[in-house]
Amino acid sequence: MPAPPLPLPERIARRLPSQCEVCRRWGTARFCAGCCAQFAPPGARCRRCAMPCAGAPAACGACLREPPPFERAFCVADYGFPWDRLIARFKFQGEAELAAPLARRLAEAAREAPTPDLMLPVPLAPRRLAERGYNQAWELARRLARLCGCAARADLLLRPVETRHQAELARAERVANLRAAFCVEPHRRALLARRRIALVDDVLTTGATASEAARTLLAAGAAAVDVWVIARTA
Ligand SMILES: [Zn+2]
Ligand SMILES: [Zn+2]
Repeated sequence: MPAPPLPLPERIARRLPSQCEVCRRWGTARFCAGCCAQFAPPGARCRRCAMPCAGAPAACGACLREPPPFERAFCVADYGFPWDRLIARFKFQGEAELAAPLARRLAEAAREAPTPDLMLPVPLAPRRLAERGYNQAWELARRLARLCGCAARADLLLRPVETRHQAELARAERVANLRAAFCVEPHRRALLARRRIALVDDVLTTGATASEAARTLLAAGAAAVDVWVIARTA
């Protein structure tokens, strides 16, 4: 993807002294080059689901057996130190400002992604959004859109009903739990037509949530959906 010129605040941020969020060394990056090399090493991944996979095949065994509805997935790193702690701080401890450096890392990791027309966050149900005060996926998506020179919308893909925490459920239950969890705002459906969507979230686990959201977007007319996440559980 050709990188658009960086927005001015981004250019300024890159020149200001700043402390690495992981090793605490001072430099000009919130994630220093040393920590990125150590904790987000480039590695072979399945092109469909981003699972670590020797030889970077077009699709891993699981994706060959049952191709996901999204076309490709991109991640910064496997879910583990330090990304698990950073995501917990970002998501549960109110450190929303971590969105900017995390989005920067993700834009870098997805530099070979097809250019999206629209960045959409995986939505939170209204009650969870009210509890947390912000949707971490939207905080990432709107910054990614600025970095990639496309639009971001939080009012297209909706999650009207509360579903049980996916982590509490077995795989088969996860799929049933998510059925009809998402919908597209009927008045804004036309905005999806023939668009390539980057669906943004913090973590990709079984892919059940991303798959259900992607299915909903494709059924509403989107041309293709890719998934962009900070961390991939292996
Ligand atoms: Zn560091
Ligand atoms: Zn795969």
